[in-house]
Amino acid sequence: MSAEEKFDAIIIGAGPAGAACAYVLAKAGKSVVLVERGASAGNKNVTGGRLYTYALELVEPGLYQEAPLERKVVREQIMMLGQNGAVTVDYADYGFGEEIPQSYSVLRAPFDEWFAARAEAQGAMMVPGILVEELIEADGKIVGIKAGDDEIYATVVIAADGVNSFIAQKAGLRGDITAHTVGVGAKEVIELPEQVIEDRFNLQGGEGAARVLIGCSDGVLGGGFLYTNKKSISLGVVLNPEDLAGQGKKIHDILQNLKMHPAVYPLIKDGMTIEYGAHLVPEVGYQAMPKKLYRDGLVLVGDAAGMVVNSGTILRGIDLAIVSGVAAARAVLKNDGESNIGPAYVAELENLALIPTMKLYANFHELLSNRRMMSVYPNMANDMMKTLFTVDGKLPERMDKAMLKVLKKHVTFGQLIADGWRGVKAI
Ligand SMILES: Cc1cc2nc3c(=O)[nH]c(=O)nc-3n(C[C@H](O)[C@H](O)[C@H](O)COP(=O)(O)OP(=O)(O)OC[C@H]3O[C@@H](n4cnc5c(N)ncnc54)[C@H](O)[C@@H]3O)c2cc1C
Repeated sequence: MSAEEKFDAIIIGAGPAGAACAYVLAKAGKSVVLVERGASAGNKNVTGGRLYTYALELVEPGLYQEAPLERKVVREQIMMLGQNGAVTVDYADYGFGEEIPQSYSVLRAPFDEWFAARAEAQGAMMVPGILVEELIEADGKIVGIKAGDDEIYATVVIAADGVNSFIAQKAGLRGDITAHTVGVGAKEVIELPEQVIEDRFNLQGGEGAARVLIGCSDGVLGGGFLYTNKKSISLGVVLNPEDLAGQGKKIHDILQNLKMHPAVYPLIKDGMTIEYGAHLVPEVGYQAMPKKLYRDGLVLVGDAAGMVVNSGTILRGIDLAIVSGVAAARAVLKNDGESNIGPAYVAELENLALIPTMKLYANFHELLSNRRMMSVYPNMANDMMKTLFTVDGKLPERMDKAMLKVLKKHVTFGQLIADGWRGVKAI
């Protein structure tokens, strides 16, 4: 294809960022090519996962109702694992996001395939099985892509190629991925009958639970998650790869130990693992985002731009990927064919609260890098509960003294104050 026969946009990667961008642009009548290296959208993607539906509403109101989502999350749970048990905080709200349900559990293969197909239905041209290897540059501007012997040209190239964005590196917007800016996730999907899942998690038909797991990483920085799907459970861990390697531990072993933990095993018992996946996730948030999200003729969206927020209780990447895809599409639509797309994109990210959200959580990474959060505090919480609930016929200790003893067993006052101060500063 020659530079004269160019498309309005080429989007590299049919994950949620790429599909959202393609959908909005194609719906507005733009000529769009959506290139995906996988044989189909979603077949290379791994997530926790849950999706906050407000993001799909931005693409098109009501779209979430058509999406292959799993269960509406009505129970938010935090589980602190100790040696032999767990303290679980269970917050149930049956009216959570009544108008637009706040979040659903999601399986990425069907979701991504559906989303890319919806973009195609709007008129985007989906090209699967193609790995984009090069960008084409002319006079300092990105004007197209190369995949094998093929060259395709466009007014703008959208890099939606995920956490390990080769395209962002090629464009000079990011350096190599370093181990301290990403987490490594491993996850199993464990099949169980619908009724069994509902009984084990105290759910009614269609309702779901999302559980954050703390103290499950064998002392490695990171944590775990559990989401209930219709007929399966997604269980996994996201760990710091540097710390994992430094401690000579294997993520698979940590996930296996988590499955066997006495408080977790009864939840997955008799289930069959039907999927195992591992993937990187941007970990640091705002501070590790590329300083520039665009250059002439190219913008970065989703994980390629490091757009993930991890607050310790909530991991958000899919919704931010969709929002950034919409922002890029809106910037293109407002700047018909001209090179102002980059600044317009950043303005849209501000309008859609993406950059402000990333900034708000900018210091959480430091808080979550506190090793004591991974094992000391979960064990302390479990010991405190044990003290509260132990009855053995002996004269109980005064509660304040007993609690102080537990506290001193795990941390010094200095550590407690320092951690509290760090926590306050981070939020
Ligand atoms: C274990 C784990 C748990 C997570 N849990 C959650 C969760 O519960 N909720 C949440 O919101 N987020 C979660 N995330 C984060 C979320 O999955 C990501 O933020 C999100 O998938 C980013 O979407 P994206 O479209 O930017 O990138 P991706 O989903 O990674 O899509 C990128 C696409 O680009 C394609 N591609 C890459 N390179 C090329 C190339 N050169 N040419 C052509 N195609 C290419 C890939 O095949 C892929 O389809 C989790 C992540 C992990 C790893």
